[in-house]
Amino acid sequence: MRAPRYPAAIWRPGPAWKTSGARLETRAAVGHSGEGRLAGILAVLNGSKESSWTLTFPQDGSPPLQHYPMDALVWHAKGANAWSFGWETEGIAGEPIEGAQERQVADFLAWCLAESWLPMLSRSGPSQTLLRHEEVGVQAQPPYVTACDSHRHNWDNIIRLATPQEDDDMWKGEMFRVATSPHVWWTNYETRRWIQTPAEAEAYKAAGIKVTVIPQGLQSLLYNIPPTPGSETP
Ligand SMILES: [Zn+2]
Repeated sequence: MRAPRYPAAIWRPGPAWKTSGARLETRAAVGHSGEGRLAGILAVLNGSKESSWTLTFPQDGSPPLQHYPMDALVWHAKGANAWSFGWETEGIAGEPIEGAQERQVADFLAWCLAESWLPMLSRSGPSQTLLRHEEVGVQAQPPYVTACDSHRHNWDNIIRLATPQEDDDMWKGEMFRVATSPHVWWTNYETRRWIQTPAEAEAYKAAGIKVTVIPQGLQSLLYNIPPTPGSETP
């Protein structure tokens, strides 16, 4: 059973009358540009215009607001409503979705994959799952014209951020914290040494090195690096 609510979102329901019940099919997602600031976008949602969408992503990168369950048939892209969900993004044409806002969109799409709301993240071919609103006009009936999303989504970036990377990074500089209590051991596989203190580990994190917790016992099994004497922190 797919979760109807994105756990990282803040639930901010839209008007109940602005849906056509449940959507029976989901094969794509549509990214929109809100063409305005958050307050104005939410005013449209709560107003009389026959327009509704699933989530809104604030420009400052704070968590998205979810207005309807994932399977609600909302009114965001006319003929595509029957087979897609859609989100609005705070901001206007000329303001690319980047930084924290882009990260939020990517994190949401990663969740959509995990929950099977989308089978893949694809921008081309018969199995295309990610659409700019403007592109819906080609597939929807009746055709209509819009400039949305004004090319604000950088789909290559978003797909890359949403898709787990190859494990190669692990051997280049990923750092692991061994989850063992009461000791805390850290290691970096570039230097192949154990890091003694959480403060030192924080310095690695500050340098952009990913930190992963691995279960007790796996450190020697996986990496054959025994903890060095004195590497324990109470
Ligand atoms: Zn749109």
